Amino acid sequence: MLWLHVFLLIGLGSAYKPLSDSFLRAIPSPGDEFAIDNNTGILAPLLIPRVPGTPGQAVAQRHLVDYFKRELPKWTITWQNSSQTTPTSNGKKLPFANLIIRREPPWVQPGQANFLTLVAHYDSKLTPDGFIGATDSAAPCAMIMWAAKVVDGYAQQMYDEMAALGEGGSVEMDMGIQILFLDGEEAFKTWTDTDSLYGSRSLSNFWVNSPNPPSQKFYKYKTPLSQISLFMLLDLLGSSSPSVPSYYTTTHWAYRAFSTVESRMRSLNLLESSNSMQFLPDLNKTMAYGGISDDHLPFILRGVETLHVIPQPFPRVWHTSDDDGAHLDMKVVKDWARIVAGFMLEWLDMMEVWNGDEPEAGGEGAKIMT
Ligand SMILES: [Zn+2]
Repeated sequence: MLWLHVFLLIGLGSAYKPLSDSFLRAIPSPGDEFAIDNNTGILAPLLIPRVPGTPGQAVAQRHLVDYFKRELPKWTITWQNSSQTTPTSNGKKLPFANLIIRREPPWVQPGQANFLTLVAHYDSKLTPDGFIGATDSAAPCAMIMWAAKVVDGYAQQMYDEMAALGEGGSVEMDMGIQILFLDGEEAFKTWTDTDSLYGSRSLSNFWVNSPNPPSQKFYKYKTPLSQISLFMLLDLLGSSSPSVPSYYTTTHWAYRAFSTVESRMRSLNLLESSNSMQFLPDLNKTMAYGGISDDHLPFILRGVETLHVIPQPFPRVWHTSDDDGAHLDMKVVKDWARIVAGFMLEWLDMMEVWNGDEPEAGGEGAKIMT
């Protein structure tokens, strides 16, 4: 294959390369994967109450795990468990189970890969009775599940090619994908520092105390926390007309890249929601917002770089019984999933394995010459 020549000379990952138009067009439509009555789809099985320690939560956990086992068998699945009392548990300890799902290059040793980390919480709020939490955060979980499937084939291709060329092991290029489905984000009574973020507090604490093996030349990342190249937290997504500001100076460049993927997809007419509405409009970081408590906080306190994808204002349905499947804007749900998939592909430098572009005039000869 022709591009292998180019590969050998310039190596992988020399630059963060935007996806070509044809690559953006090749990101499929989620179709009816998110239909709220499609019980074999990705989203519908999550549209049930998922309170920690209840049967509904066990159903949600099974759906998440079964999906990866069935659709993405090369991804590793591990649990990080804790048990904690809550203000409504009468002294009883409730189980909290974070799900860690990873796809990493086959040659890496423990602690070697850096991870683009996609995060959403899968628990639902105890009140009001019967609360579903479609935007909070069933739909964000489903978007991540779908985007993982889009990325998986390209990741396989990249890992295969890199292994064949002996390119692996250069650290920067040992890029993997990590998904965190976190438990116990919601408060049981009133949001406080201790009544909220049960899962993320437990996981960040576990990881800061889990040093990676100091193995020879790859001892770059001291703990799993430092392996996170970007902690991309999706929350409260799926309502109409979302507007997500850029929250952090240190990841504004990533926000801009994410936003650019969106506007390019809009200009190519690849999105279903109105092109007059940009989900990620804050290119110059000028939007005003308040501080938001969410699963990123325990990680930010430990120095993890975060891209918080949560709209301002919150959806109208937030923490009400109306936050259910019927109130989702399905065009918006599908568009978020495609934009996230596009951003992931770009972050992971997948232009290196994209060969769906028309060759430029004279391009082949030029490439052979290099
Ligand atoms: Zn919530």
